[in-house]
Amino acid sequence: MSQKNDDKTGIVPGKKRKPFIRHYNHEYIKYGFILWPNSTEEDIRPMCIICHEVLVNDAMKPANMLRHLKAKHSELEKKPREYFERRKQELGLQTKTFKQNFIHNKSLLKCSYLVALRIAKTRKSFTTGENLIKPVLIDVCLEMFGLSAVDKIKSIPLSNDTIRRRIEKLSENVEYQLIQKIKESTLFAIQIDESCDISKKAILICYVRYIDFTLEEIKEEFLCCIELVFIYNK
Ligand SMILES: [Zn+2]
Repeated sequence: MSQKNDDKTGIVPGKKRKPFIRHYNHEYIKYGFILWPNSTEEDIRPMCIICHEVLVNDAMKPANMLRHLKAKHSELEKKPREYFERRKQELGLQTKTFKQNFIHNKSLLKCSYLVALRIAKTRKSFTTGENLIKPVLIDVCLEMFGLSAVDKIKSIPLSNDTIRRRIEKLSENVEYQLIQKIKESTLFAIQIDESCDISKKAILICYVRYIDFTLEEIKEEFLCCIELVFIYNK
C-alpha cells in the first residue's frame, strides 16, 4: 500500500518532517569557526576558535558567523584564512596535550593505588613504597626500558603520607561495599568478642554473617575492630 503526498512539498501525511540539519563546511574557518568537537550526527554545531563559543546548528550560516566575528572579535575581522588555520592547529595541540596529561595522571594515580593495595595486603609499613618499591622499579626500568621509563616511574606518588591516604581510602571503600551488602541482605548476624592487640589495648572485634545475593551464598566477613575505652566511676 502506498501513501500519496498531499501537496508539492513532498510531506507524507501522518509522518513527521525530519528537521533540517546544516552541515559544516571547511570554508567556515575563514570566519573563525570550526566544527564543535562534541558534534554528533544529529547535533552538528559550529564553534568559535577564538572564544570557544558554540552556536546552534541553525546559526551555521556565513552571515551569522561573520556577525559573531565582527561583534566579538572585531580586531581579527581582516585576518587572513591562514591566521585562523594556525589558531585551529594550536587548539588541536592544546587539546591533545591536555588529553595526554589527563591519561598520564590517571595511570599515575592508579599505579599509586595498586602499590598501596599490595602494601596493605602484605601489612608492610607505609614507607615501603618510597624506600623499597620505587627504587626497585627505577632500577628495573632503567635496565630494561631506559631513562624515559625511569622519569615516568619517578612521578608515581608513593610517599609515606600518600600510601597512608590511599590505604585509608581503600579501607573506606571496602567498608562501604560490605555495609551495602549487609543492607541488601536484610537478614544478618553479628558476632562480637573482646580481645587484646600487641600493645595490650582492649579491642572489640566484630564479625558479620549475611546473605550475598550476587554470589547466592552466605558470607562471613570481618566488620570492624574498635578500641574499648574503660570509664571508671568513682
Ligand atoms: Zn568568538
